[in-house]
Amino acid sequence: MSHRTPVIAANWKMHKTIEEAEAFLGDFLPQVADVSETEIVICPSYVALQAAVELCAQTRVRIAAQNVHEETEGAFTGEVSAPMLEEIGVSGVVLGHSERRTYFAETDDALARKVPAALAARLRPILCVGETESQREADATEDVLRRQVDADLAGIEDGRLAEVVIAYEPVWAIGTGKTATPDQAEEAIGMIRSLIGARSAEAADSIRILYGGSVTTENAAGLLGRAQIDGALVGGASLDSDGFARIVTAAR
Ligand code: PEP
Repeated sequence: MSHRTPVIAANWKMHKTIEEAEAFLGDFLPQVADVSETEIVICPSYVALQAAVELCAQTRVRIAAQNVHEETEGAFTGEVSAPMLEEIGVSGVVLGHSERRTYFAETDDALARKVPAALAARLRPILCVGETESQREADATEDVLRRQVDADLAGIEDGRLAEVVIAYEPVWAIGTGKTATPDQAEEAIGMIRSLIGARSAEAADSIRILYGGSVTTENAAGLLGRAQIDGALVGGASLDSDGFARIVTAAR
């Protein structure tokens, strides 16, 4: 059992209206009311953030956004800044999700600015990294993880590295129903922890590194039972309140 507090995060992607988010939380919150040893994070769409923050205000559940712009303000039509999220009570933000890297051309250069921008506004970044199927087949997983971790965290001083949560999300496992085996996930997470350790042994010991990629109620316990795996970032299976509550319970 690791000394790190587990994190179980729900990435709702572009799902759930405000009404649907409220209905989910109405079902979900009572089911996790006595969970105190796991950090539970829900990441709704921008428009449902404030309603979710208000509903979770008296609970231990935290609300995070799914993206943020690196500047605090400016002529960036359609974007949202970290201080704007902080103002409404959001406490974290998912950064570098593979869908944003693939469909919205999010680069490691942009992430190197987004991670510090989030921390500056007291938002905890959940930084996603991971290899594609062809990169894994070409035995390039370690190189890809090194490139992403080094570049995306370049703007963070060593003493603040542990404030970031990293999610190892192999691209081939996201939304595909193909889950990494606990061995594969643990091996990759071990690599990421060593990369952090090359900068700070203390940060490597305390930083939380999650697994994400087709986590379900069936496979969660096997993954979360591993010493290196500090929690899960859950997409599809987080849309159902009972199922997500069971995944949270599996982390206990
Ligand atoms: C994700 O969106 O981060 C994710 C891991 O999705 P899924 O659980 O659906 O694979």
